[in-house]
Amino acid sequence: MKMKITFLGTGDMFSVEQHHNSMLAEFGDTHLVIDFPESNAKALKEYGFAMTGIHNVFITHLHEDHINGVQMLGYYSQIVGDRKPRLFIHEELVDPLWNILSPGMRYTTDGERTMSDYYDIIPLPDGGSFELGGVTFETFRTQHVPGMVSNGLMAKPYFYYSADSTLNRERVEQVAPDVQLIFHECHMHDLVIKSHTSLKDLEQLPAEVRRKTVLMHYHDEYADAAKRAAFNRTYAEDLRMAGTLESFEIGE
Ligand SMILES: [Zn+2]
Ligand SMILES: [Zn+2]
Repeated sequence: MKMKITFLGTGDMFSVEQHHNSMLAEFGDTHLVIDFPESNAKALKEYGFAMTGIHNVFITHLHEDHINGVQMLGYYSQIVGDRKPRLFIHEELVDPLWNILSPGMRYTTDGERTMSDYYDIIPLPDGGSFELGGVTFETFRTQHVPGMVSNGLMAKPYFYYSADSTLNRERVEQVAPDVQLIFHECHMHDLVIKSHTSLKDLEQLPAEVRRKTVLMHYHDEYADAAKRAAFNRTYAEDLRMAGTLESFEIGE
Protein backbone atom coordinates (compact mmCIF):
# COMPACT_ATOMS: atom_id res chain seq x y z
CA MET A 1 0.00 0.00 0.00
CA LYS A 2 1.16 3.49 -0.76
CA MET A 3 1.22 6.24 1.83
CA LYS A 4 1.28 9.95 1.06
CA ILE A 5 2.89 12.07 3.73
CA THR A 6 2.28 15.81 3.67
CA PHE A 7 3.71 18.29 6.13
CA LEU A 8 1.01 20.70 7.26
CA GLY A 9 3.78 22.56 9.05
CA THR A 10 7.47 22.21 9.78
CA GLY A 11 7.98 25.16 12.12
CA ASP A 12 8.99 25.19 15.75
CA MET A 13 7.07 26.73 18.64
CA PHE A 14 8.12 30.29 17.76
CA SER A 15 7.46 30.13 14.02
CA VAL A 16 5.47 32.98 12.55
CA GLU A 17 6.58 32.57 8.92
CA GLN A 18 5.61 28.93 8.60
CA HIS A 19 3.09 26.59 10.16
CA HIS A 20 3.75 24.68 13.37
CA ASN A 21 4.96 21.12 13.00
CA SER A 22 2.26 18.63 11.94
CA MET A 23 2.14 15.76 9.48
CA LEU A 24 -0.74 14.25 7.51
CA ALA A 25 -0.42 10.61 6.41
CA GLU A 26 -2.95 9.43 3.78
CA PHE A 27 -3.16 5.71 3.01
CA GLY A 28 -5.82 3.37 1.66
CA ASP A 29 -9.12 5.13 2.32
CA THR A 30 -8.07 6.70 5.59
CA HIS A 31 -5.56 9.10 7.12
CA LEU A 32 -3.89 10.22 10.34
CA VAL A 33 -2.80 13.69 11.36
CA ILE A 34 0.01 13.96 13.89
CA ASP A 35 -0.71 16.86 16.24
CA PHE A 36 -3.15 19.66 15.55
CA PRO A 37 -1.80 23.22 15.82
CA GLU A 38 -4.18 25.98 14.74
CA SER A 39 -2.01 26.60 11.67
CA ASN A 40 -3.39 23.30 10.31
CA ALA A 41 -6.64 25.04 9.34
CA LYS A 42 -4.81 27.23 6.83
CA ALA A 43 -2.48 24.44 5.72
CA LEU A 44 -5.38 22.05 5.06
CA LYS A 45 -7.16 24.73 3.05
CA GLU A 46 -4.04 25.37 0.98
CA TYR A 47 -3.56 21.65 0.51
CA GLY A 48 -7.23 21.14 -0.44
CA PHE A 49 -8.27 18.79 2.36
CA ALA A 50 -11.52 19.79 4.10
CA MET A 51 -11.21 20.08 7.86
CA THR A 52 -14.49 18.17 8.17
CA GLY A 53 -12.61 15.29 6.53
CA ILE A 54 -10.17 15.05 9.48
CA HIS A 55 -11.22 11.94 11.38
CA ASN A 56 -8.02 10.68 13.04
CA VAL A 57 -5.57 12.73 15.08
CA PHE A 58 -2.62 11.56 17.16
CA ILE A 59 -1.39 13.92 19.86
CA THR A 60 2.31 13.64 20.73
CA HIS A 61 2.42 15.99 23.74
CA LEU A 62 0.84 19.10 25.18
CA HIS A 63 3.17 21.94 24.21
CA GLU A 64 1.01 24.63 22.69
CA ASP A 65 2.47 24.48 19.20
CA HIS A 66 1.16 20.90 18.92
CA ILE A 67 -2.35 21.29 20.32
CA ASN A 68 -3.53 24.86 19.90
CA GLY A 69 -5.91 23.85 17.10
CA VAL A 70 -7.62 21.06 19.04
CA GLN A 71 -10.39 23.30 20.36
CA MET A 72 -11.07 24.63 16.86
CA LEU A 73 -11.13 21.16 15.32
CA GLY A 74 -13.53 19.93 18.01
CA TYR A 75 -15.95 22.80 17.45
CA TYR A 76 -15.59 22.71 13.68
CA SER A 77 -16.30 18.99 13.49
CA GLN A 78 -19.39 19.42 15.64
CA ILE A 79 -20.82 22.53 13.99
CA VAL A 80 -19.80 22.06 10.36
CA GLY A 81 -18.97 18.35 10.19
CA ASP A 82 -21.04 15.31 10.92
CA ARG A 83 -18.83 13.23 13.18
CA LYS A 84 -16.43 13.38 16.09
CA PRO A 85 -12.77 12.99 15.16
CA ARG A 86 -10.90 10.19 16.90
CA LEU A 87 -8.14 11.42 19.19
CA PHE A 88 -5.35 8.91 19.79
CA ILE A 89 -3.52 10.10 22.87
CA HIS A 90 -1.45 8.77 25.77
CA GLU A 91 -3.80 7.96 28.66
CA GLU A 92 -1.95 10.28 31.04
CA LEU A 93 -2.53 13.23 28.70
CA VAL A 94 -6.32 12.96 28.44
CA ASP A 95 -7.22 14.84 31.64
CA PRO A 96 -4.44 17.45 31.27
CA LEU A 97 -5.64 18.15 27.71
CA TRP A 98 -9.21 18.63 28.89
CA ASN A 99 -7.91 20.97 31.61
CA ILE A 100 -6.47 23.11 28.82
CA LEU A 101 -9.56 22.90 26.60
CA SER A 102 -12.37 23.00 29.14
CA PRO A 103 -12.48 26.76 29.89
CA GLY A 104 -13.48 27.28 26.25
CA MET A 105 -15.38 24.05 25.61
CA ARG A 106 -17.16 23.01 28.76
CA TYR A 107 -20.05 25.47 28.60
CA THR A 108 -22.27 25.66 25.55
CA THR A 109 -25.70 27.08 24.82
CA ASP A 110 -26.96 23.50 24.95
CA GLY A 111 -25.47 22.78 28.36
CA GLU A 112 -22.23 21.44 29.76
CA ARG A 113 -19.92 19.32 27.66
CA THR A 114 -17.03 16.96 28.28
CA MET A 115 -14.17 16.06 25.97
CA SER A 116 -15.95 12.95 24.72
CA ASP A 117 -18.78 15.14 23.40
CA TYR A 118 -16.29 16.58 20.93
CA TYR A 119 -13.86 13.72 20.41
CA ASP A 120 -13.85 9.97 20.29
CA ILE A 121 -10.94 9.52 22.72
CA ILE A 122 -8.65 6.51 22.26
CA PRO A 123 -6.37 6.47 25.34
CA LEU A 124 -3.07 4.66 24.81
CA PRO A 125 -0.86 3.12 27.49
CA ASP A 126 2.92 3.55 27.51
CA GLY A 127 4.21 2.02 24.29
CA GLY A 128 0.64 1.39 23.14
CA SER A 129 -0.26 0.88 19.52
CA PHE A 130 -3.32 1.29 17.33
CA GLU A 131 -4.39 0.14 13.92
CA LEU A 132 -5.84 2.23 11.12
CA GLY A 133 -6.57 1.10 7.57
CA GLY A 134 -4.33 -1.96 7.92
CA VAL A 135 -1.34 0.03 9.25
CA THR A 136 -0.10 -0.48 12.81
CA PHE A 137 1.05 2.66 14.57
CA GLU A 138 3.32 2.04 17.53
CA THR A 139 3.87 4.79 20.09
CA PHE A 140 6.97 5.22 22.20
CA ARG A 141 7.97 7.64 24.93
CA THR A 142 10.39 10.33 23.88
CA GLN A 143 12.86 12.29 25.97
CA HIS A 144 11.66 15.84 25.51
CA VAL A 145 11.25 17.63 28.83
CA PRO A 146 11.89 15.65 32.06
CA GLY A 147 8.62 14.73 33.76
CA MET A 148 6.52 15.50 30.68
CA VAL A 149 4.73 12.72 28.83
CA SER A 150 5.71 12.92 25.17
CA ASN A 151 5.30 10.29 22.46
CA GLY A 152 6.72 9.53 19.06
CA LEU A 153 5.14 7.29 16.44
CA MET A 154 6.34 4.51 14.21
CA ALA A 155 4.52 2.81 11.34
CA LYS A 156 6.55 -0.03 9.82
CA PRO A 157 7.45 -0.31 6.98
CA TYR A 158 6.63 3.34 6.35
CA PHE A 159 8.06 5.84 8.79
CA TYR A 160 9.49 6.75 12.16
CA TYR A 161 8.36 10.08 13.62
CA SER A 162 10.46 11.47 16.44
CA ALA A 163 7.97 14.11 17.61
CA ASP A 164 9.66 16.66 19.92
CA SER A 165 12.60 14.79 21.32
CA THR A 166 16.26 14.64 21.98
CA LEU A 167 17.95 12.11 19.71
CA ASN A 168 17.58 8.52 20.85
CA ARG A 169 20.40 7.26 18.68
CA GLU A 170 20.04 3.63 19.69
CA ARG A 171 16.32 3.51 18.86
CA VAL A 172 16.70 5.36 15.57
CA GLU A 173 19.54 3.09 14.41
CA GLN A 174 17.59 0.02 15.45
CA VAL A 175 14.40 0.96 13.62
CA ALA A 176 16.06 2.43 10.52
CA PRO A 177 16.20 -0.83 8.51
CA ASP A 178 12.45 -1.35 9.08
CA VAL A 179 11.21 2.00 7.80
CA GLN A 180 11.50 3.98 4.61
CA LEU A 181 11.81 7.44 6.12
CA ILE A 182 12.77 8.86 9.49
CA PHE A 183 11.14 12.19 10.28
CA HIS A 184 13.20 13.80 12.98
CA GLU A 185 12.92 17.13 14.69
CA CYS A 186 15.98 19.38 14.44
CA HIS A 187 16.04 22.88 15.91
CA MET A 188 18.78 24.07 13.47
CA HIS A 189 20.10 26.58 15.97
CA ASP A 190 23.83 26.69 16.50
CA LEU A 191 23.46 26.08 20.22
CA VAL A 192 22.48 23.35 22.66
CA ILE A 193 18.77 23.11 23.50
CA LYS A 194 18.40 20.35 26.04
CA SER A 195 14.84 19.36 25.06
CA HIS A 196 15.48 19.16 21.31
CA THR A 197 17.81 17.67 18.69
CA SER A 198 20.59 19.61 16.96
CA LEU A 199 21.99 19.17 13.48
CA LYS A 200 25.26 18.07 15.10
CA ASP A 201 23.39 15.23 16.85
CA LEU A 202 21.91 13.97 13.57
CA GLU A 203 25.24 14.21 11.81
CA GLN A 204 26.51 11.53 14.21
CA LEU A 205 24.09 8.95 12.78
CA PRO A 206 25.51 6.36 10.35
CA ALA A 207 25.35 7.36 6.67
CA GLU A 208 22.70 4.75 5.80
CA VAL A 209 20.45 6.16 8.54
CA ARG A 210 21.08 9.79 7.59
CA ARG A 211 20.02 9.03 4.01
CA LYS A 212 16.53 8.20 5.29
CA THR A 213 16.31 11.13 7.67
CA VAL A 214 14.11 14.13 6.95
CA LEU A 215 14.28 17.18 9.24
CA MET A 216 11.24 18.98 10.67
CA HIS A 217 10.34 21.34 13.57
CA TYR A 218 12.98 23.98 12.80
CA HIS A 219 13.20 27.75 13.15
CA ASP A 220 11.99 30.37 10.71
CA GLU A 221 15.25 31.05 8.90
CA TYR A 222 14.50 27.84 7.01
CA ALA A 223 10.94 28.89 6.19
CA ASP A 224 12.74 30.23 3.12
CA ALA A 225 12.60 27.55 0.40
CA ALA A 226 15.92 28.72 -1.05
CA LYS A 227 17.63 28.19 2.32
CA ARG A 228 16.22 24.66 2.53
CA ALA A 229 17.25 23.94 -1.05
CA ALA A 230 20.78 25.13 -0.26
CA PHE A 231 20.86 22.86 2.79
CA ASN A 232 19.57 19.90 0.76
CA ARG A 233 22.22 20.54 -1.91
CA THR A 234 24.99 20.69 0.68
CA TYR A 235 23.73 17.48 2.29
CA ALA A 236 22.95 15.74 -1.00
CA GLU A 237 22.32 11.98 -0.55
CA ASP A 238 22.34 12.65 3.19
CA LEU A 239 20.07 14.52 5.59
CA ARG A 240 17.33 16.64 4.03
CA MET A 241 14.77 19.17 5.22
CA ALA A 242 11.02 18.90 4.67
CA GLY A 243 9.10 22.04 3.78
CA THR A 244 5.56 23.02 4.70
CA LEU A 245 3.06 21.39 2.29
CA GLU A 246 5.80 19.21 0.86
CA SER A 247 4.66 15.63 0.20
CA PHE A 248 6.51 12.31 0.30
CA GLU A 249 5.17 9.19 -1.41
CA ILE A 250 6.24 6.04 0.40
CA GLY A 251 5.24 2.40 0.43
CA GLU A 252 4.49 0.37 -2.66
ZN1 LIG B 1 7.16 21.64 19.39
ZN1 LIG C 1 7.47 20.25 22.62
